[in-house]
Amino acid sequence: MELSAHHSLCVHGFRGMGYSEGFVASLAGIVARLRDEPGIRVRVRVGSDAVCRACPSLSVGGCMRYGQSVVRQDERVAQVLGVEQGQEMDWDDLRARVRGRVAPDDLAALCEGCPWLSYGVCAEGLAELRAGLPLRGAAAIDRSPANPPPGR
Ligand code: SF4
Repeated sequence: MELSAHHSLCVHGFRGMGYSEGFVASLAGIVARLRDEPGIRVRVRVGSDAVCRACPSLSVGGCMRYGQSVVRQDERVAQVLGVEQGQEMDWDDLRARVRGRVAPDDLAALCEGCPWLSYGVCAEGLAELRAGLPLRGAAAIDRSPANPPPGR
């Protein structure tokens, strides 16, 4: 599975929010897979990945919504995790790096400018990871009306 560096953080905070119904369904499937198959091989991406493939903002030129800012975000996260573009490893290993190297308070700098940050779910997800809790996955899907895709 291709997974962008910053999405290796996002999956912990996934609560069913997203950019379209199809995107949410796809991401729920990805999160469930990561939760249920910790040995799955992931290829680290700086740029679009398996999550982006169901996103209405993905174009041939990359992410139309966030442009280069999300690439820079991937670069920052990859550096902290000590991983490189195209590197392959078990999800369990990548998750352990996230757990050991990214504290909830680090997100303000690592994910500066990301509109999802203010929801607090990303920091909550990382705190849960540090507490040894599993990914919430599809059980987290919240279909309440306060579930819009924010703008950056
Ligand atoms: S908004 Fe951009 S980075 Fe985020 S999932 Fe969509 S294409 Fe990927």
